[in-house]
Amino acid sequence: NNYTREDILRMVEEEDVGFIRLQFTDMYGTLKNVAITSSQLEKALDNECMFDGSAIEGFARMEDSDMYLRPDLNTFEIFPWRPQQGKVARLLCDVQKADGSMFESDPRYVLKKVIAEAKEMGYTFDVGPECEFFLFHTDEDGLPTTFSHEKASYFDLGPLDLGENARRDIVLTLEDMGFEVEESHHEFAPAQHEVDFKYDEALLTADNIMTFKLVVKTIAKRHGLHATFMPKPKYNENGSGMHMNMSLHNEAGENVFNDKNDPNGMSKEAYYFIGGLMKHIKAMTFITNPIVNSYKRFVPGFEAPVHIAWSRKNRTPLIRIPADRGGNVRIELRSPDTAANPYLALAVCLAAGLDGIRSKIMPPDSIDRNLFEMSEEELKEAGVEKLPMNLMEACQEFEKDEYIKNVLGNDLVQKYTQAKKKEYEEYVTQVTEWELNKYLHRI
Ligand code: GLN
Ligand code: MG
Ligand code: MG
Ligand code: MG
Repeated sequence: NNYTREDILRMVEEEDVGFIRLQFTDMYGTLKNVAITSSQLEKALDNECMFDGSAIEGFARMEDSDMYLRPDLNTFEIFPWRPQQGKVARLLCDVQKADGSMFESDPRYVLKKVIAEAKEMGYTFDVGPECEFFLFHTDEDGLPTTFSHEKASYFDLGPLDLGENARRDIVLTLEDMGFEVEESHHEFAPAQHEVDFKYDEALLTADNIMTFKLVVKTIAKRHGLHATFMPKPKYNENGSGMHMNMSLHNEAGENVFNDKNDPNGMSKEAYYFIGGLMKHIKAMTFITNPIVNSYKRFVPGFEAPVHIAWSRKNRTPLIRIPADRGGNVRIELRSPDTAANPYLALAVCLAAGLDGIRSKIMPPDSIDRNLFEMSEEELKEAGVEKLPMNLMEACQEFEKDEYIKNVLGNDLVQKYTQAKKKEYEEYVTQVTEWELNKYLHRI
């Protein structure tokens, strides 16, 4: 989309749009919005829509809390699930400070900054995400549970797959909103699903992930189901990942990772990009896997990565090169989960890859066997390290990595680490059901 101000005003008029939601994303990756009626639209398009930044996680302090929303015209979209008269549309917004400058801790701004860096090097960053989620029942009060009657598994279909109709509506709604959905299927765990939409430039993909989550949750609710993107909602079942398939293209539109003369079909840049990801992954994990629960996904046996390694085919490591070669060669990072703020996650992925290219960081040899079948000694010998085991460990790695911290900027680093340390502290001091069951009667 390439809309002008006049286009927006015309579409709102012609389509009988009654409400426009001005949306943005907080530090945690939560979508926020304020609704205006079409009578206020011109004002909003002049960036005159003010809000209290101190009430948004990771935004302003009390002292200078007035902030403004600056709608990105190209993100105009009508919600197909709202009434057809007096329709509801949305505009994604950038965030501006009272003095008119951009707010540097706005996640969308953080990503734009790294994208601009890549542009200077002649690259555009393309990303295709694979979002997984669960569809659970709600209880008699309408509250979400982790319960489902379903027993279906990978690629199963109805009548075994009880989420089939909801998934179908999700896909159709996404298509109504301009998404190109490439595939959708039941995932491995009961009640777990995946919907893959086509790759796009990183900013669009991050915007799309935010829209995607809203659509999935909204449509699931219409089917009486609760959609959750929580990384590991159930013990002893697969968790939900958000694999990122990444490539760079140059100004001529060619895939920079492609080199037909290399035995793996990969260019130097592709190797370096992997090298950069592997160098920074421990710190990046603090962003790509942002909650306490994220780390319960990183256990062997559930198709999620544990080891920091890359492979040309095997699915057990952190990074995989899918079988597609030539113009479609890409790097799949398998650690990110669906709790991540997609803007920040893609910002650190791209920054790490660019560091790899600039500093010519060659990755270690690929490991093309099942990492979970290797002994501790074999792993040690091959120099394979592990991802952080919990949020605090990830935080410590993050605090050591000046390069990755710099991507977020000082202000956001302070707010984010402080909030996450508090979250972890709160978590580790809980006395859990598990502990009571395990110890109460014996000790
Ligand atoms: N659910 C798995 C994960 O946690 C991925 C499964 C798959 O797509 N092969 O990453
Ligand atoms: Mg997939
Ligand atoms: Mg999957
Ligand atoms: Mg995948």
